[in-house]
Amino acid sequence: MFARIIIDIANSNVDRLFTYRIPEELDVKKGHRVIVPFGRGNKPQEGFVLDLCEECDTRFEVKSVIRTLEPYTALLPDQIELSQWIAKAYHCTVCDALRLMLPAQLRGSRVKEKTVRTVCIAEGIDAAEARQKLLKKDGTPKSCKQLELFDILSKCGIPMTTSDLNAYVPSAGAAINALIGKGFITEQGHITFRRPLMKDVGRDSSPELTAAQQNAVDTISNGGAGDVFLLYGVTGSGKTEVYLNAIEIAIKNGGGAIVLVPEISLTPQTTDRFRRRFGDTVAVMHSHLSAGERYDEWRRIRFGKARVVVGARSALFAPVEDLKLIVIDEEHEPSYRSESRPEYSADEVAVRRARRTGAKLVLGSATPQLISFLRAKQGAYKLIALPERINGIPMPQVEIVDMRSEFMSGNNSIFSLNLAQKLKKCVENGEQAILFLNRRGYSYHGECRACGHVFKCPNCDVAMTYHKFDDTLRCHYCGYAVRVPKVCPDCGSVYIKYSGIGTQQVEEQLKKLIPSVRCLRMDTDTISGKTSHRDILDSFTAGNADVLIGTQMVAKGLDIPGVTLVGVVFADASLFHSDYRSGERTFQLLTQVAGRAGRAVKQDGSGRGTVVIQTNAPNHRAVRLAAEHDYDTFFEQEINDRLRTLFPPFSVFARAVFECADENTAAESAEVFADEAEKALRSALAVFGENAENELLLLTHGAAPIRKRNNLYRYAVVVKLARTKHTNAAVTALWELSDRYNIDGFKGVEINPNDLL
Ligand code: ADP
Ligand code: ZN
Ligand code: ZN
Repeated sequence: MFARIIIDIANSNVDRLFTYRIPEELDVKKGHRVIVPFGRGNKPQEGFVLDLCEECDTRFEVKSVIRTLEPYTALLPDQIELSQWIAKAYHCTVCDALRLMLPAQLRGSRVKEKTVRTVCIAEGIDAAEARQKLLKKDGTPKSCKQLELFDILSKCGIPMTTSDLNAYVPSAGAAINALIGKGFITEQGHITFRRPLMKDVGRDSSPELTAAQQNAVDTISNGGAGDVFLLYGVTGSGKTEVYLNAIEIAIKNGGGAIVLVPEISLTPQTTDRFRRRFGDTVAVMHSHLSAGERYDEWRRIRFGKARVVVGARSALFAPVEDLKLIVIDEEHEPSYRSESRPEYSADEVAVRRARRTGAKLVLGSATPQLISFLRAKQGAYKLIALPERINGIPMPQVEIVDMRSEFMSGNNSIFSLNLAQKLKKCVENGEQAILFLNRRGYSYHGECRACGHVFKCPNCDVAMTYHKFDDTLRCHYCGYAVRVPKVCPDCGSVYIKYSGIGTQQVEEQLKKLIPSVRCLRMDTDTISGKTSHRDILDSFTAGNADVLIGTQMVAKGLDIPGVTLVGVVFADASLFHSDYRSGERTFQLLTQVAGRAGRAVKQDGSGRGTVVIQTNAPNHRAVRLAAEHDYDTFFEQEINDRLRTLFPPFSVFARAVFECADENTAAESAEVFADEAEKALRSALAVFGENAENELLLLTHGAAPIRKRNNLYRYAVVVKLARTKHTNAAVTALWELSDRYNIDGFKGVEINPNDLL
């Protein structure tokens, strides 16, 4: 027998199948990781067995597999197939794709399995008789320690770890060994899984589903293998409960499930809900796990001890056998797109994995990606709507405040009169509020009030951020920091104002507005360590504060019944980006934040949510329609605009960036690349007929929006292609060009990057 092996080296030159003989005495299966001799020097290398075959071309020397790395196969057959697909679809090596499937710690054997020594009363002995033998004639113990240990173990009845025993009987080692020698107790080594520290959350069961929820669950369970469902449900409509019920069905049918949630909402609140329903069969995978914990969670899944995986994007690759369900919650979140190689989109890969394994895929959102909703309308996805909140709770009432007229009428505080008044009332009534801000730090950028001079980073072509705690201006791209100048370097004026606002400033003004207010702040500055996020949330949920101030982190998934007021301090932050998606993103964000308000209306009707959106652009479509909870109209208008201007999903963007210390070099490189890309694209498209070249809609080169970063000048080539059945061929032509391109500062080709900055 022979094994077809990919060597674990992410270099495209060796990214092909090598054939090795399997020695008689080795049991090598498809999916095993093995050690093989590789290259001239026969250096031992790790490799993945992707296939077995009976014969091979023996004209060449065939080397033999040295050994298997694990007794079990690390890769499932469906993961192997998925890796090969990813390599093609996203232009990476098969090795790169395979690495997605394994915890990094497994490779290179960096983490050892943790075994602990346990002992228990030996089987078949008479405990009373044995105990007697530990006593002297006069009834006193021959050895106090031995007797004590024996008593603990017989009382306990189950194996105990030696370290636990040591806690009862200090320095028990010798005594334990003596008892083993006498045959009274026996030792068993066994593997334990390092579970991430978790508090006991108890168990619950499903509430009675609403008719709409039941319909959703039925539609999913009656669907066919590989079907994709778009669960389009307003915030608080009970989508999570639908997932939980669909998972329950998957488990009952002997299968497993994967649930992806955005990293940012991978809060204990979310994961606890799954653990309460499914207990220890839930594995949680997120970036805060230690290397060992991650490895152990992966093995719990691989060995079938965990059947439900809840995690961020990469959990999509978890080794779940008999996968019956994949859920992507908040499917519109940009974090489902990988920014590093391979640059995959979780939803696309999930569609593929579902089709291959026969699992069903559920995409859930109150504000689906335009592309997903379009697919649902076209029938490629099955649309399931949950148009109402649970228990007939009304959607929050949203008011828009025009901050420009607020300023003109003499109010230059952060809070409009409207929001200030509502905040006071909310706190007086003992209710809770969330203030949302789309920014971090104390204020946006330093600006001279007299001449408008903006303080920019000398390394990067961006405005610096003012940080109050040390009175500095800082660049968020490169970390450059300076003390705030006393006078304007341009005009000498001392009126340097800090336009824009940050969470810290909101907190200060709030305390001025309501001196007795108790508030909590949650942003990347206040979150540190493993538990801080949970501490803040727990504390707020427990009612220890009236107001929670935060950035994006407070927007997602929080379900806190006491919250009746949400204030969006400044809605424009995400609006005026030079990005075609900023409208879509703003709509999603505002809808999410607004959805945090009034999730639990009381019997007497009080507690209805109110949202105040402060903005300088009250008539912007994204703001107006989010306030009206009108996704359908937003979708219609936005998708028509995209079609008219041929932006995605009707086209594909590709971008190549050059970063050089010398500006001319960067500019010239981009120009040369643009020429070659044009040639390559035209000839790739020409194959499909004369008109196909028209599908190249745009090809430009020039300075990137952030012209300078970390002292490097940045120039970019931007390509826009109409999305047709020829697009893949065109993209492949670009990739091939990029593979051949090996010049300084070339950052490669990105397809539909998350931003074009
Ligand atoms: P979504 O995920 O759509 O925002 P959730 O699933 O979080 O909605 O549900 C919102 C709230 O309603 C949660 O507190 C949840 O426990 C509760 N809930 C969901 N379904 C039901 C139901 N059938 N009966 C009672 N309460 C429910
Ligand atoms: Zn000035
Ligand atoms: Zn900088």
